[in-house]
Amino acid sequence: MVIRQKLWMRRNAPNPEPSTMAKCEQGYLCDVCGKDVDSVTESDLYLRYVMGQVPPDELHRSRERHIRCNPSVAQFIVDPNFEPVQLDGPFAKASLDPAYVAEQEALVTRAWRRLQEIPNLAVHIIEYPLPEVRDRWQREADQIRSSQTANNPDG
Ligand SMILES: [Zn+2]
Repeated sequence: MVIRQKLWMRRNAPNPEPSTMAKCEQGYLCDVCGKDVDSVTESDLYLRYVMGQVPPDELHRSRERHIRCNPSVAQFIVDPNFEPVQLDGPFAKASLDPAYVAEQEALVTRAWRRLQEIPNLAVHIIEYPLPEVRDRWQREADQIRSSQTANNPDG
């Protein structure tokens, strides 16, 4: 996943080598529309990573997608800088429980805003997720460690 981040930075550098471009582009094509996912800020995969829905070890294995190409998540982004995405059908906001919609709008919008800031923040990829997600992952890691200790009292 660190490699992925570095490639992105390299791609955005001026005058990349043509061979590098071609190689990288294949790894960043959107699974839905087939076009290039230019930046981390328009990546559905990284948006879901920031929300804690994609664990760190799945980042490099998962398919890339534009935020706008995943309307079931994108419909919850409510921000003047984001052109609203409409979804029809049973998973459209209008068909869902209003309390759930309000909760999702708060979460997804917050995650999207954080994602937009990430290129300007000098943070490591493990610090991308929202604070409560990082806390949860830390607790889970601590629990695994302590249970391993409990299972190996001699070791
Ligand atoms: Zn797309």
